[in-house]
Amino acid sequence: MSLRIVEEEMDPEIKELIEKGFDKTKVLKVSLPKPGAVVQRNVDALLTGFKYVVKPMRLTIDYPYKAVEYPEGYRGMFRVDDNKCVGCSLCDVVCPADAIRLVLKDKKKVPVINWGRCIFCYFCVDICPVEAFETTKYHDAVFTRFEDMLTTLEEFTKRPEDYVPMRKIGKRYKVVIDEYRGLRYEPVG
Ligand code: SF4
Ligand code: SF4
Repeated sequence: MSLRIVEEEMDPEIKELIEKGFDKTKVLKVSLPKPGAVVQRNVDALLTGFKYVVKPMRLTIDYPYKAVEYPEGYRGMFRVDDNKCVGCSLCDVVCPADAIRLVLKDKKKVPVINWGRCIFCYFCVDICPVEAFETTKYHDAVFTRFEDMLTTLEEFTKRPEDYVPMRKIGKRYKVVIDEYRGLRYEPVG
């Protein structure tokens, strides 16, 4: 019964070869793709390419006309509360970029910062035993002179937006994980 089904389902060309005396264990059929299918695949590839020529897909955004909304916990510029600071110098010691300098205030050493050197690692913030640093998400700062990046103590005790001009940003976007593209940007607000 099962042999008869196999015989019925056998490819007619192979069946013919076997009937002509070929060893059926050595008959192999190689199917070449139909010419129509090859053409279709090429047309599909050209259409895909054309689609991205007409409507290019960007993986980056056009900063500063567009900018990404920083997520919670983003390491932006920060300030020091000189009243909290106990002058232990740990922030200066731990800074890997040599961005912190200590200045004397009422016989106590308190930090000032060089924004041109800071790499925003937050080692200083984390190590401070009295949590004297107040962090922000502020980061789109514009300095026109190198000297402006070296803060005075008066400046470093202020919030950065109160003494550093901010770059003009067109529109904020949030990053969304996209199954097909990897990343996608959606307008905020
Ligand atoms: S954030 Fe890092 S690089 Fe910047 S001042 Fe603190 S320790 Fe130095
Ligand atoms: S680690 Fe904190 S307490 Fe110590 S000097 Fe720096 S800011 Fe002041």
